[in-house]
Amino acid sequence: MSTANNAPNILISAAGEDAAWKEAMVARLPGAKIVTGDENYDPETIDYALFWKQPQGLIKTLSNLKAIFSLGAGVDHVVSSPSLPADLPVIRLEDAGMADQMVQYHLYAALHFMRDFDIYSDQQAKADWTQHPVARISKCRIGVMGLGALGAAVATALSSLGFGVSGWSRSMKAIDGITTFAGKETLGEFLGQSDILICLLPRTTETENVLNSTTLSFLPKGAAIINAARGAMINEADLLRALDTGHLRGAFLDVAVTEPLPESHPFWDHPKIRITPHIAAETRIEESVEQIAENIDRINRGETPRGLVNRETGY
Ligand code: NDP
Repeated sequence: MSTANNAPNILISAAGEDAAWKEAMVARLPGAKIVTGDENYDPETIDYALFWKQPQGLIKTLSNLKAIFSLGAGVDHVVSSPSLPADLPVIRLEDAGMADQMVQYHLYAALHFMRDFDIYSDQQAKADWTQHPVARISKCRIGVMGLGALGAAVATALSSLGFGVSGWSRSMKAIDGITTFAGKETLGEFLGQSDILICLLPRTTETENVLNSTTLSFLPKGAAIINAARGAMINEADLLRALDTGHLRGAFLDVAVTEPLPESHPFWDHPKIRITPHIAAETRIEESVEQIAENIDRINRGETPRGLVNRETGY
């Protein structure tokens, strides 16, 4: 029998981090009954599931679930499950300490290209002391795809440092200092004025492969790409081609279609690619647990939880 209103039954499956999440959840919700996937529990009593890369088939065993909380900003690992009931609420984390980390990651990566550190790294290998003029930051045009919790924070931070920043989203946004574009029909124009393209879109059926040979060709010659969203947003073969033909200057990638990136993958030793192993922003347990607990309270009060995923758009 479920006890959702006063003492919910909560299942945690957090890809190797179960113990840390359980400890934090028990501290925040001492009245709740909280179990991890390796403990004995009755699946029919579980009210809420906290998931990060949960085992296949787990969702369909939980017949009385009231909601699934993703332990990340992305929900592709949950909404892609064929056994996910169409009307089951899926809730994601909003920022939860990730926006600051995304800002740091993108600042470093943007400066890598804007201050020619890619070129100086090649020169060092050849003991070459050639100096290049330092570009004016306002002349470096950054385009941010996705102006959500993370994209808007990155766009605003880079703009405050003097970069010329524009952003692209599904619905029109008004953000101080940022030139905004919305919808498919503006994608070409947006890309055409992005010297450094940042991808912070969620993975959905619409955004998969959004950067392909056609859309990459809209970027100005010599543009660079930073992708810390999901590997599936970029067609990897098309990216390699655009780098090898010289259309693109470089790519700074935190994500790939297959993770961990296989040892034999051409990205590893490509001279124009920098790789980091999906570390742009980690989920902060403390902030996340607070959001989850507040959302359980909202649900109990009959309110809409924050970060509720629109199951039609998939994010
Ligand atoms: P949000 O859901 O808050 O924002 C998504 C943004 O993308 C919104 O602005 C949305 O538009 C826009 N968008 C979605 N679909 C489309 C579309 N078809 N066309 C145009 N714009 C679209 O997500 P977050 O900012 O919280 O996170 C973004 C992604 O970052 C996550 O989904 C995750 O994959 C990734 N991530 C990566 C991490 C890492 O360490 N590498 C860590 C954390 C997250 P609109 O505003 O109009 O809805």
